[in-house]
Amino acid sequence: MEYFDPREYDLAGRIARLKTRHGVIETPYLFPVIDPTRQQPPLDTVRKLGFNAVITNAYLFYKRNRGRVKSVHESLNWKYPIMADSGGYQVLIYGDVEIDNTTIVNYEKKIGVDIGVILDIPTGTRMTFQEAWKAVQTTFDRAVEALPIIMDSDQLWVLPIQGAPYKELVKYSSIRAWRYPYHIHAFGSPTVFLEKYDYSKIVELVATAKLYLPPHKPLHIFGVGHPMILPFLVALGGDLFDSASYILYARDNRYMTETGTKRIDELSYLPCNCPVCSKYTAEEIRKLPSKERVKLLGLHNLYVLRKELLKTKQAIKEGRLWEYLEYKSKAHPTLRKAFEIIKKYINLMNKYNPLTKGSPYAMFLINVDSLYNPRLVNTRYSTLNNILTSYKGRRLGLYPALYKPYNQQEWISNKISKANILLYHPYLGIFPPELSNTYPYFQHEESIDTEFMDKYSEKIISEISNIKPVAITIYYVRNTWSEHIARILEGKLKRVIDVKIVEIT
Ligand SMILES: [Zn+2]
Repeated sequence: MEYFDPREYDLAGRIARLKTRHGVIETPYLFPVIDPTRQQPPLDTVRKLGFNAVITNAYLFYKRNRGRVKSVHESLNWKYPIMADSGGYQVLIYGDVEIDNTTIVNYEKKIGVDIGVILDIPTGTRMTFQEAWKAVQTTFDRAVEALPIIMDSDQLWVLPIQGAPYKELVKYSSIRAWRYPYHIHAFGSPTVFLEKYDYSKIVELVATAKLYLPPHKPLHIFGVGHPMILPFLVALGGDLFDSASYILYARDNRYMTETGTKRIDELSYLPCNCPVCSKYTAEEIRKLPSKERVKLLGLHNLYVLRKELLKTKQAIKEGRLWEYLEYKSKAHPTLRKAFEIIKKYINLMNKYNPLTKGSPYAMFLINVDSLYNPRLVNTRYSTLNNILTSYKGRRLGLYPALYKPYNQQEWISNKISKANILLYHPYLGIFPPELSNTYPYFQHEESIDTEFMDKYSEKIISEISNIKPVAITIYYVRNTWSEHIARILEGKLKRVIDVKIVEIT
């Protein structure tokens, strides 16, 4: 795909280069929504914060210019990429817009936007299933109608994926999207869920779309502009985002943080070191005239959004996006709920996840949530299926993996040549000693919580049941986690296998 070039993957997230006529956008990226009539903060300030592409509304631009064609780049005085939304959202909020699909698509083409959108019908949250079904059909009719207009253009064109909040309709739209030669897919997210911080619904719907959409094309997610949720959606395959939230929140005196939103009135301190927060106190911002206050809060909000994108990208580079989600999930109950939903989509993430990144970064195994780390799940699955099946029907000796490197532990090093020796570990499960120096059997940092021994043991038991040994001897070291696990395994397995436990002295 010459216009979209992924360079790094982690989970279903990726760092890629999206080529447009006015330059390359590195994804994941968030387009600040720009008001063509009264933009605050000014565009050069937005640019200085590190944003090199913006989104504006082609319908508002059309209305303001009474349909006259003008270069959008010249009008905004912006020589970098511009995406234009079509006005579909205005249809949702204000009822019918006095413009039709072919007019707006033609207009977007002529004013020279880099990324254009057809006039879709957002399904919103108030529509019945029947109404939403109709909206989806009309959106596709318009996608077909626009094809002759956009075929000969070198702009990138977006096909909106409507149907939310109905999962079946999102699935239908995503499957049908394979038929049309659009460059980018855009998930139409019901902003009302976002306003209520109901992130689990969005997570579920985006995962559904990603499961069925063509995987090689970039996925835009409309209207998601909060640093709390961005990395979760990136992990599910979101490449592009846009948001007016930075300025809408600012007008409402709301101050974004990575873990929530505060009202400027309730802040005694500004917990941020952006240029705004370094210069002003909360008290000083409150006392500013409204226009100035909105501008500064808008800048701070943009800064926090960009910081979150950078953190997410760095996590992708390190192959630690899952660890980052674990960390974020502890910051707010609503993120915890989103995280619980994400655990259901481990297979989706593993479809894209490189098993090893060839990087020196260790896997962080922090608590039982880490058992769901897709890269760990994948490792255990492939060890079980590719290696451990050859141990079927044997008498096994299971030794604890307590100290790295595990094949050098004193209780195993003299037995290593024996065929029936395996290791067990709360996170890594059952594995042969030969893997001890490979990733992640060696490259991980762990913290093991003895409160959750049942949870750790569950997966080990399922692995043993898959190997089907005729007998096992489980060795343990007194007063370590291995003693807990050995006793749990003995209790659970004794009815089905000949099992005994032996203390290593
Ligand atoms: Zn700040």
